[in-house]
Amino acid sequence: MFKKLLICNSQLMKVLSYLEQNRLTEIVGIGIGIINKDYVQVRHVELCKNIARDPQHEFLADPLCFHNIYKIITKTNEDIVTIIHSHVDGGVEPSAKDISNMLIWGIPWLILNSRDVYRAWILGSDGEPTAIETFIVESC
Ligand SMILES: [Zn+2]
Repeated sequence: MFKKLLICNSQLMKVLSYLEQNRLTEIVGIGIGIINKDYVQVRHVELCKNIARDPQHEFLADPLCFHNIYKIITKTNEDIVTIIHSHVDGGVEPSAKDISNMLIWGIPWLILNSRDVYRAWILGSDGEPTAIETFIVESC
């Protein structure tokens, strides 16, 4: 079970700056990097267009984004290590819909809100979300 999420500073700054420009819709990003035994390390974030029907309350990443991600992970041999999205007017806790999708992915999710609060989550063996610590590292 993952105990922490490491993300490099430049990629977190990129996400926060994208969030600043998109306060009225949920943002979506896919973190690419390395999966270790008990933590993941985000080395690159690919920001995706949110193509959900109701982007203020839900997110759906543009398939074109996954095409780019596929090209990146094929070249770098890295993995998708976290799913990143924001909540427009709420907390950073996963919604019921988030939880059912987290179950499919099995990797940490990083959730932000409009006040720039962010928290990483994983699902415990009981299916309940548990917050894990996020560490910012300098180099990607
Ligand atoms: Zn959510």
